[in-house]
Amino acid sequence: MRLSHHYVVPHVSTGDMLRAAVKQGTAIGLKAKDQMDRGELLGDELIMDMVEERLQESDVRARGFVLDGCPRTVAQAERLAEILAPFDLDLAIDIEIHTSQVLRRLAARRVCMDCGANYSLSAPPLINWTCDVCGGEVVQREDDTEEAISRRLELYEYQTAPLIDWYKFRNQLQSVPGTGSPDAVTRRMVKVIEDRRQKGSGF
Ligand code: AMP
Repeated sequence: MRLSHHYVVPHVSTGDMLRAAVKQGTAIGLKAKDQMDRGELLGDELIMDMVEERLQESDVRARGFVLDGCPRTVAQAERLAEILAPFDLDLAIDIEIHTSQVLRRLAARRVCMDCGANYSLSAPPLINWTCDVCGGEVVQREDDTEEAISRRLELYEYQTAPLIDWYKFRNQLQSVPGTGSPDAVTRRMVKVIEDRRQKGSGF
């Protein structure tokens, strides 16, 4: 979210799109809810059909985009490359963080039900769990339970972590430490993007 604000481009988050579908009660939403609450990954085809549709919209085509939460499997990365051809992703960013810290952060995370803004127990909204951005109610995500978090981490290890080598091999990966405040992590991401731009990779 912070990165897309910085570059004034759309934030394309598969998790946000799925949560919106659940809220609207669409066919995808009905299918997704139970799996999301358990921390399971949804099918590659369903996810990538949804992403393909979104990436055809005019705002994305005009300005580019920050893709968040996707790809989460090698099959998704392959399909994404097909969708974007003859172009490709400018950069994939791996935010490195120790598992114990992920657990701590997710257990303390609170989100706005309306706009998805993120807070935590240690950095709550200014007024009584009411979102600073839109006034919505700030709550704990239903999939931020201990069981669902540990399932997400388990799936990360064997489904998503292989993408690090996949993108490294294609010279598309930059890693940044995920320690410190959200603003500090965003600054590191902006730096690796700007470094890559200066090296003249064409974007
Ligand atoms: P997130 O908000 O990115 O943490 O995503 C929340 C949940 O949505 C995940 O735990 C999955 O159940 C589902 N999800 C989001 N993105 C994907 C994806 N790229 N592939 C499969 N499932 C996804």
